[in-house]
Amino acid sequence: MEGLLILFDRNHKHQSSISIEHFMAGGFFGRTLVFVLPLMPKFLVGWVARRYVAGKDLNSAIKVMKNLELQSACTTVDVLGEEINTLEEAEFFVDEYKAVIMAINKEKLNANISIKPTAFGLLLNREKGLENISKICELAAETEIFVRLDMEDHRVTKDTIDVVLEMYSRNIKNVGCVLQSRLFRTKDDIKNLCKTLENNADFRLCKGIYLEPSEISHTTYQSIVESFCSDIDLALDLDAYVGIASHDLQVINYAKKALEMRSLGPGKKDSRETSPKERMGKGPGYEFQFLLGVRGNIRRKLAKEGHLTRVYVPYGSQWYEYSMRRLRENPDIAWHVFKAMIFPWMNRR
Ligand code: FAD
Repeated sequence: MEGLLILFDRNHKHQSSISIEHFMAGGFFGRTLVFVLPLMPKFLVGWVARRYVAGKDLNSAIKVMKNLELQSACTTVDVLGEEINTLEEAEFFVDEYKAVIMAINKEKLNANISIKPTAFGLLLNREKGLENISKICELAAETEIFVRLDMEDHRVTKDTIDVVLEMYSRNIKNVGCVLQSRLFRTKDDIKNLCKTLENNADFRLCKGIYLEPSEISHTTYQSIVESFCSDIDLALDLDAYVGIASHDLQVINYAKKALEMRSLGPGKKDSRETSPKERMGKGPGYEFQFLLGVRGNIRRKLAKEGHLTRVYVPYGSQWYEYSMRRLRENPDIAWHVFKAMIFPWMNRR
C-alpha cells in the first residue's frame, strides 16, 4: 500500500492551520485530479510513478535495494497487486514472495518482506489463506527474514492481527503487523499484542492511509499526530520493537525525544526491562521507516545520525491499477502527483 499516488498518504483535510500545500492536497483539488489522472496517458503517470515504485519486476527492485544500501538504508519489499478474487490468484503472490526471499538471500541484502494477508486469500478461505501465509513465513524464518503484515482498511484489522496470533501459536515468530494510529482501537491492540507476544511484539506504527469513519477513528491531522505520539510511548513502554513509519517531522522529532527518554538511540543497547528479541538486520529496539521516493533527505539525515532506516520498496506489473485504486481511496495523494508533474526536477528519490 503504500508512494506516489501509490501507496500510503495522509489526511490533512481537517487541519486547522492550512498551508497552501495542505489546501491543495485536500478537498476539491484532490478530487478533481483523481478524476483527471485516469484520463492521462499511462506513460505520463508511469513517469511520475517511477519515483515511488522500484519497477515492474524483481530485478528492478533488487537494483533499487542495492542502491538504498549504499545510502545506509535497509529495505522491506512489497509485491504490488490488486485484491484477489480467486484462490488461484493467491498462488502468484506465494511464488513471487518465494522468489523475493531467495533473491534477498542470494544478494545478501539487509531486507525483509511486507505482505498483504488478503492477497494470500485470507478473506476468501481463512484456512487456505493462513496456509499460504505460513508457507512464506516459514521459508523466510529459515534465513531470519522478518515478515511484516501490512494493514489494510478497518474491515480486516482484526483478521490481520489474528494472523500474527495464529502464526505465534504455530511457533512462527518472525511475524509482526502494522498498527494505524488513526484508529481508536490501536492502543488496546498494542496492549493485547504486547501481553500475548511478550518480547516478540514488533509493530510498524503509522497514521494509516485509509480515511476511516469518525466513529472508529481520529479524523483531524493534529489528533492523528497526537495519537501516533502516544502510541509510540505506549509501545516503547511495553517493550515492543517499534518501526516508526512517518515522513512527518512532528512525529519523527517526537519519536527521537521518546527514544532518548528511554535511553534508546544510535549506538545504545536496548536496556528496557524485557527488551525485544534481537533480530538479524534490525535496530536496537526501533527503526525509522519511509516509503520509496518520499523525503529521502530526512531519511538520509537520520541514517547519518546513526538511526536504522528502512525503505518500503514496492514493485510489480500491476503498479498502474494499484496506484489508481489508492488514489481513489485517498485523493490527498493527488497533490504529490501534480507536484511531480509541474516541478519535474523534484521528481527524484
Ligand atoms: P504526512 O503528514 O502525510 O506526510 C509528511 C510529508 O511527507 C508530506 O507533507 C509530504 O511532503 C510527504 N509525503 C507523505 N506521503 C507522501 C506520498 N505518498 N507521496 C509523496 N510525498 C508524501 N498505511 C496503512 O494504512 N497501512 C500500512 O501498512 C502502511 N504501511 C506503511 C509503511 C511505511 C514504511 C510508511 C512510511 C507508511 C505506511 N503507511 C501505511 C502509510 C501511512 O499510514 C501514512 O498514510 C503515510 O505515511 C503518510 O503519513 P505521514 O506520517 O508520512 O505524514
